[in-house]
Amino acid sequence: MPAKKDEMNKLEKVDDSSKKKSKTPEHLRGFRDILPEEQAYWNLVEDTARKISTDYSFGRIRLPMLEKTVLFERSVGKGTDIVEKEMFSFTDQGNDRVTMRPEATAQVARAYIEHGMLNLPQPVKLWYFGPMFRYDRPQSGRYRQFHQWGLEAIGSAEPVIDAQVIIMLDRFMKELGLDTVVKINSIGTSESRREYVMELASYFKQFRSKLSDVDKKRLTKNPLRLLDSKEEGMDELRENAPQILDWIDETSKQNLMKVLEYLDEVDVAYELDPFLVRGLDYYSRTVFEILPVAEESQGDEESKSQSSLAGGGRYDGLIPLLGGRDDVPAMGAAVGIERVILAMKNKGVDVPKRRTVDVFFAQLGDAARRKGLAMFEEFRVSGIPVAEAFGKGSLKAQLELADKMEAKLSLILGQKEVLDGTIIIRDMESGGQEIVDAKKVVDIVRRRLG
Ligand code: AMP
Repeated sequence: MPAKKDEMNKLEKVDDSSKKKSKTPEHLRGFRDILPEEQAYWNLVEDTARKISTDYSFGRIRLPMLEKTVLFERSVGKGTDIVEKEMFSFTDQGNDRVTMRPEATAQVARAYIEHGMLNLPQPVKLWYFGPMFRYDRPQSGRYRQFHQWGLEAIGSAEPVIDAQVIIMLDRFMKELGLDTVVKINSIGTSESRREYVMELASYFKQFRSKLSDVDKKRLTKNPLRLLDSKEEGMDELRENAPQILDWIDETSKQNLMKVLEYLDEVDVAYELDPFLVRGLDYYSRTVFEILPVAEESQGDEESKSQSSLAGGGRYDGLIPLLGGRDDVPAMGAAVGIERVILAMKNKGVDVPKRRTVDVFFAQLGDAARRKGLAMFEEFRVSGIPVAEAFGKGSLKAQLELADKMEAKLSLILGQKEVLDGTIIIRDMESGGQEIVDAKKVVDIVRRRLG
């Protein structure tokens, strides 16, 4: 009977699979584990970000990873790549449409409005550090979960604020040993941009047949995006395109000039890039990106597009767009941490490799191990960097490890020493050993280390 046979087949299949060892589920594409050996880079980068944020009086804000989808639809913009195809969105158990944050500026703006920060002295300066999520095509320097350090200064339209944010990022890059250049432009206000966008669209319409499908779509939906299109042949078509600086309002132009003057004042290297626009709808006036100098002329268009280390700009319209007061301008930027670390590695920047250990604690036998736990704690509390290998039995293996860690001294505690209340101090360089009173060992070691 066919039905029965089917049942049998199913059973066999089940039996078959239960015999096989199940495969360990792997990480998702575009997501990664950051292992201990990479932490030296992360620590240095995070410490530098924290220090610079604090030096310039930015206060930290820790934001949720999950927000209502509508926050990003309204702020980042419905026609953008991020909202159209890159968001990790789902409907939660309570039937709310929610999204893993693809960026944090919209969140900071939401928080500013929600917590009535308008009542604080303006501008309110905030920084954040954390993971962002975008469903993009993964490749070197582009992940689906990546980290950003971000700065937002809300409540001032002064161009000096634009300059200050750029200066902070420039200092950050320098402190990490990177040689970078700021590409800068102004995209005016949304009103002054309107006419330019029409002009740009009519310019590209003449070449419609030469445009790729993606660019044809951009031409109808968001012609500004044609300016940073990476499609083949676009460089040539762009050459004679109208330039935004010829179309924007006087204040926008003057503000850009002021920003450049401020940057000159503190020797920040920049290049005016008339075709620089940013991917998100909410930008206005100053926009900028930071690129590593060495890579600028290298690589194809695709890899060049991955070399942007940071980007940002003014977003005077965002707070009103999200329901806040009309007169709250703002400026912000975000740094791609994985890209910064990649650039540091490419350049061979030195980072403190691992914690230095002055003293290695070696033990032999269970009694020594028990006593050792307490003695290790004594050293740790007294602030002397100490390492151990309680899991190892052989003295030889432990001393080899001490050598590898470049410990200056090893302490050796065996059965006999436990009974005598003593401990051996071994100088790892000379190999000389000395037996001392276990109770005084912390002081003796401290003196020996100078
Ligand atoms: P954006 O928020 O798109 O302005 O990006 C700011 C910075 O974040 C960029 O300059 C990159 O350094 C970094 N970034 C953006 N998207 C990714 C990604 N998918 N993977 C890694 N870094 C990224």
